[in-house]
Amino acid sequence: MQGQNPVFIPGPTNIPDRLRHAMNMQTLDHRAPDFVDLLTPVRAGLKKVLKTETAEVVTFPGSGTGGWEAAVSNTLSPGDTVLAARYGMFSHRWIELCQRLGLTVQVIETPWGEGAPADRIEEALAADKGHAIKAVLATHNETATGVRSDIAAVRRAMDAAGHPAMLYVDGVSSIASMDFRMDEWGVDLAVTGSQKGFMLYTGMAIVGVSRKALQAMETAACPRAYFDFRDMIGANAKGGYPYTPPLQLLFGLGESLKMLLDEEGLDAVFARHHRMAEGVRRAVAAWGMKLCANRPELCSDTVSAIYVPEGFKSDALVNHAFRTYGMSFGVGLGEMAGRAFRIGHLGSLTPSMALSGIATVEMAMADLNYPITLGAGVAAAQDYYRTTAGVPQQKA
Ligand code: PLP
Repeated sequence: MQGQNPVFIPGPTNIPDRLRHAMNMQTLDHRAPDFVDLLTPVRAGLKKVLKTETAEVVTFPGSGTGGWEAAVSNTLSPGDTVLAARYGMFSHRWIELCQRLGLTVQVIETPWGEGAPADRIEEALAADKGHAIKAVLATHNETATGVRSDIAAVRRAMDAAGHPAMLYVDGVSSIASMDFRMDEWGVDLAVTGSQKGFMLYTGMAIVGVSRKALQAMETAACPRAYFDFRDMIGANAKGGYPYTPPLQLLFGLGESLKMLLDEEGLDAVFARHHRMAEGVRRAVAAWGMKLCANRPELCSDTVSAIYVPEGFKSDALVNHAFRTYGMSFGVGLGEMAGRAFRIGHLGSLTPSMALSGIATVEMAMADLNYPITLGAGVAAAQDYYRTTAGVPQQKA
């Protein structure tokens, strides 16, 4: 049944037919003089999505993890200290990657369900009188817990501490789905991938690099070769790539940017994600279940992580939904393993698609004797989607 239903994992996301068609193309010569006609608008469009006028944007074959590695290895040196809060599986994995690259990570342990703790970041930076900390890492949207962090608050904390560290933000599951403001928030490295908000196949790491980060690149000593910004930026400036580009993904990205920027418009994209998410949250409340996100303002608009009731195993639920109904939901990761499941609601999704996910997980819960009333979550979400559809409601 794989492929017949939409997926509700928090990425890779459902791919609109239009984008699949855009990527279904014959090989073209990437060294031909017209390659630049493809690359230039893609890079310009990505800057608009990142909301940056001044940064460079580079696109590497890879995934989000490659973007993390590129950001870190191009701008830091072995032995450098970075400050990072751990509040989910992805912030954890980024910390591990830094450690494997020879960096010292000062970790702020943060309860899962919370976001980047701006106050503790400010404290740690203020205590670092000698400016040993070179970078602050923040995961904008922690995909494991469905928590969105306030990156503007992290920037304010850094400024309040008067600390010159650079700000690295993982926007893998937020960028192109939720508002991201690279320049306004003073983000130095912004990382994302092709397979979430951009609704494409996995295979491209996208990194925004600020002017300050470009300066740091000149003296950074971490070994890097394939992901060297200098090779990519140098080749891009001449209208090319330092090696064979993922041409199909670049075509897909061109089309995706048209959809996001020129047709729907970013604000409408963000509003749609909020609406999809809110419908899911209404369903969760109707089931009497709790989100991992500790407070409403932390709730992500791209993924909801939902605790299952005591005595139930979330993996069994996800497994059952897949085996019985052919629909995929996200399993609980790390501390959430077995305790929570995730509904991804990002990328190409309509209310009707979201309702199919809510209805299916509800059937799976009923099959496994969860204490829910069949239809309760669906009705709550229907109610929300109806009343926010922008059509006048008929009087009874
Ligand atoms: N960061 C976040 C927030 C993610 O959600 C993911 C993947 O889901 C990653 C990083 C890693 O990206 P990838 O799996 O594309 O390497």
